[in-house]
Amino acid sequence: MGIGIRRIRSFVPQVLAAPEPVVEETPPVPQPKKARRKQPTIPIMHEEALGVRYADFGHLPPEVWNQLVGAIRDGLRSLCRTVDDAYQANLEQQLGRLLDQGIPDAVYALGRDVMQGVLSRERGYLGSKLVCDACGDVLGFEGNKPRSFLTRLGEITACRSYYVGACGHSVFPLDTLLGIQEHDALPAIQEEIAFLAADLSYGKAVATVQRLLPITISNQTVQRVTATVAGQIQAEQEADRKTAFGDPVNAAFPEPVGVPSGPVAVVAVDGGMCRIRDQEDFSEFKVGVLGTINPSNATPDQPAPVEGKHYVAHFADADTIFEYVNVEYHRLGLHRCSVLHILGDGAPWIWSRGKELCHEGQEYIPTLDYYHVAEHLANLGKVLFGSEAQAANNWSKAMRARLDNDELDSFFTELQSSLQWATRQAGKERAEAVRLELEYFQDRRAMLNYKQCRERGLPIGSGMVEGGIRFVGKDRLHRTGMRWHVTGAEASRSAAPTRAVRETHSLNAKRRKGRRRSIPGQQHGYKRRRLPTIIS
Ligand SMILES: [Zn+2]
Repeated sequence: MGIGIRRIRSFVPQVLAAPEPVVEETPPVPQPKKARRKQPTIPIMHEEALGVRYADFGHLPPEVWNQLVGAIRDGLRSLCRTVDDAYQANLEQQLGRLLDQGIPDAVYALGRDVMQGVLSRERGYLGSKLVCDACGDVLGFEGNKPRSFLTRLGEITACRSYYVGACGHSVFPLDTLLGIQEHDALPAIQEEIAFLAADLSYGKAVATVQRLLPITISNQTVQRVTATVAGQIQAEQEADRKTAFGDPVNAAFPEPVGVPSGPVAVVAVDGGMCRIRDQEDFSEFKVGVLGTINPSNATPDQPAPVEGKHYVAHFADADTIFEYVNVEYHRLGLHRCSVLHILGDGAPWIWSRGKELCHEGQEYIPTLDYYHVAEHLANLGKVLFGSEAQAANNWSKAMRARLDNDELDSFFTELQSSLQWATRQAGKERAEAVRLELEYFQDRRAMLNYKQCRERGLPIGSGMVEGGIRFVGKDRLHRTGMRWHVTGAEASRSAAPTRAVRETHSLNAKRRKGRRRSIPGQQHGYKRRRLPTIIS
């Protein structure tokens, strides 16, 4: 027998005042939470349980002790039964199942009972009247209502004090305390769900959560929770951006959250196209990955790994994504690194602005993503050699070798003579294509520093910084036939808060709609846990 709702309900708070019409000249003065009322003495069922004495715990309310003891007794009984059954059935055969499933399940159940025991007393009862957060009116205590929600140990049910006012607003202070106003899951579970959904499809996130934790969730829950967490990250990010760039007079970057773990700051950016549900067209997104490198960790074949990766991603214009990158750069303290290494696909926006990230005394190394260079050379080979695929291949390979060896003069001489040849013999169109490629490389000559990068243990391609750009962007968003309903869905927040945020108009519209629908008394943000003001 577990601790059920019925037993919990027997502890309804004593003061049950109905909301009274309050007519006051001045708004009620908020009062601090009262000291806990002296409860009538509740008998202790067991002064001692399994050698543990109640008297040793000065703060433990008697009813919680009673609940704990009851839960432990039930849990012990259930564990004993589980193990006993295993012995009866032939322990050797049952041992694996017992350790894998039987004991964990019993312990999870025990944990849930203990949580419910604690919640049997803590219902968010804050007195008979509260000030309405939305309109300043009075909300009166109306009783308790049960609600089930997910914890790391599975689903539990709490009975929460409910306040409602003549203004039509209502509030459950316990929901605010626990952070379950918006979703039937504690914040840690919400973040874990969002974290998984950042890397996996919703279906896989559901499967993974259910595999690892004793809970059952739906696809929609994952989607909604992710949207909420994404929305918050996005709001935080946007606020940081406004602080940094909104007002030039009082501009300020966020305080660094820590000390960079390596001397080289790496910033890689890339863009791509993806389809969004409800929209016919492809949308362009941009992703930035930020992290640090410790070149001494490089091996002869591999550049040093990028550590502490953080993302920013956006369906935004170049200026906006650059500002996000810049804010994150400061937040991570990367401006304190001695070297700034930027990798990009050659899109002009990052090259024209990348240097702005560079602080005094910081060495600036911009590198054109090697993968994009290889692609340009392969295309140029086709223009020059037409159907002679092998010759085109050899040519582009030789050109890459020149870049690898930092033979830039001969690289450009070859491009020049290719252009001369094409102008004379290949026709206007091909000559123009060659000219454009020559220009592309000339504009980016300072970024063709692959030999230097290799020697210094730095990456030469954004893919080396992070399959993430491919992953977050192309693979995740651009899966064949898949259209994304971008509810900020792929935002992620890992233990070292990864920041990847997707935004579209549909997201904004959705959230605006959502806000209008919500009950004002329950509008507390996911992280803000401001409780209503207590009147009496
Ligand atoms: Zn109200």
